Amino acid sequence: MAQTVSDLEITGYSAERTRGRVVVTSYRRTERLVRGLKGAAVVWGVTALGAFIPVAHFVIVPVGAFFGFYLFLQRFRAHLVPKDCSGTCPDCGLEQVFDVGAVWCPPARVTCLRCSRSLTLVETR
Ligand SMILES: [Zn+2]
Repeated sequence: MAQTVSDLEITGYSAERTRGRVVVTSYRRTERLVRGLKGAAVVWGVTALGAFIPVAHFVIVPVGAFFGFYLFLQRFRAHLVPKDCSGTCPDCGLEQVFDVGAVWCPPARVTCLRCSRSLTLVETR
């Protein structure tokens, strides 16, 4: 697991461009496998407890089994995971932390918390 800090260029509707920063964690294959299994184990553990609830277990067990497998695949395929992404909106000037999702795949599209405009985040090395 290695972390890199990258500068971002943020564009919106206005011609102005602002700066931001993202911390990205990169995982190797074995780390992704362990990370995926940990996530799935938590979901399947809770699902196993739901197996003892009468009638509800008909829903809880299949949904939990599927979601655990889905979570495993999602974490296993995530090579680059953003940990901290922040910057300033070029349209309204609000400095904020962006929610870029579970996988870092630039250019990333986010929404400003104040003006709700779509912003594009591009890495500049
Ligand atoms: Zn804004």
